[in-house]
Amino acid sequence: MAGGPGAYVFGQEERKELMDVIDSGYLFRYGTEGVDGFQHKVASFEQELAQKLGMKHAFATSSGTGALLCCLAALGIGAGDEVIVPGYTFIASISTIILANAIPVLAEVDDSLTIDPTKIEQLITPHTKAILPVHMLGNPCDMDAIMKIAKKHNLYVIEDCCQAFGASYKGKPVGSYGDIAAFSLNVFKTITAGDGGAVVTNDDLLYERAFGFHDQGHKPSRMGVEIGNRSIIGMNMRMNELTGAVSLAQLRKLDGILSTLREKKAKLKAHLAGLSNVSFRKLNDEAGECATLLTLLFDTPEVAERFCEKIGGKPIAYSGWHVYNNMEQLLGKVTGAAANCPFDCPKYESSRTYYKHMLPQTDFNTGRAVNISVGVVDKGLGAGFGININSSYEEIEQVGKQLREIILAL
Ligand SMILES: *Cc1c(COP(=O)(O)O)cnc(C)c1O
Repeated sequence: MAGGPGAYVFGQEERKELMDVIDSGYLFRYGTEGVDGFQHKVASFEQELAQKLGMKHAFATSSGTGALLCCLAALGIGAGDEVIVPGYTFIASISTIILANAIPVLAEVDDSLTIDPTKIEQLITPHTKAILPVHMLGNPCDMDAIMKIAKKHNLYVIEDCCQAFGASYKGKPVGSYGDIAAFSLNVFKTITAGDGGAVVTNDDLLYERAFGFHDQGHKPSRMGVEIGNRSIIGMNMRMNELTGAVSLAQLRKLDGILSTLREKKAKLKAHLAGLSNVSFRKLNDEAGECATLLTLLFDTPEVAERFCEKIGGKPIAYSGWHVYNNMEQLLGKVTGAAANCPFDCPKYESSRTYYKHMLPQTDFNTGRAVNISVGVVDKGLGAGFGININSSYEEIEQVGKQLREIILAL
């Protein structure tokens, strides 16, 4: 089986929440308490999520991609605006910027495999509106450095938390640092409902706009639906009650999932102690990362490839649409001035093109990095080998010893 840790721990809890909804016969997220058996699972998920993250507002969406679009729309990011985003991220972080008619400006990642804060300022122009850091592979970005740059240059920060549900940085949850943040519940993430997502923010206006974008321009929770001016044109990215039910059960399991992963990762990692020809990617917050993956760093891409031949895997550089080099939809294309704009096109003053190997530091770091699964088992992420959340201590020991032997013999 492939998937994230949440997908491995489905049980009575998900079944109960789901059956509440099925038995009620009412699947739409809006209803009236006590009428039609309305179970308000989506609303409960939203409330518990906001509480868990210590955020003023949270709302659920149909996907993480949808959540990112809501963030961009809420901030009014559009034609001609530049958004700085790392070249190592799932393609949705980049494609949503393009679909907002804005211009992705690709940034290098450092040896944490998250955006390199020392390489951000050189990318800022008068058109830059936002930085979109991605907490990649469950590892929080260096948010202190990123927020400092954003403040200095008056830029918005949109946190892509899709791979880092439950991670924290310096004791505060990811998603609580920037202006607004997106989460995902797809099958490969920390917790899952098959698909789904969420947006969180502490800003009242951004909440109203983001919520409206995900639900046809309606005010949050459709309160006062028939009155007042709506501030935004919206789409439909709503979550339904079935998804809400599973999301709620999974959210309540998040702490347990994370503590299990952290314990099992530490056990696996201990087998690789003292090896001189391998290191681990930098963790910007070791206690706060999700521990969904163990990412090995070899000295060169050549050594990483030799290692991968032995485990039947691939370095991160080859993990499909997670690395800009593999995003053929993007390569050779131009955004900005030459791009199509569906209606009411304003004058663009800026444009960008994208080509292979435009980010040498990212190429080097993704080329020498290999993901070993701990909780996320995903060949697409380059993590088809390793353990999963249900692995026994015997299995962990076996995998750990096997890895040690392979690395020693490289
Ligand atoms: C998964 C993912 C997304 C998109 O989430 P979906 O729920 O699959 O739409 C966005 N950004 C990153 C970094 C992701 O890993």
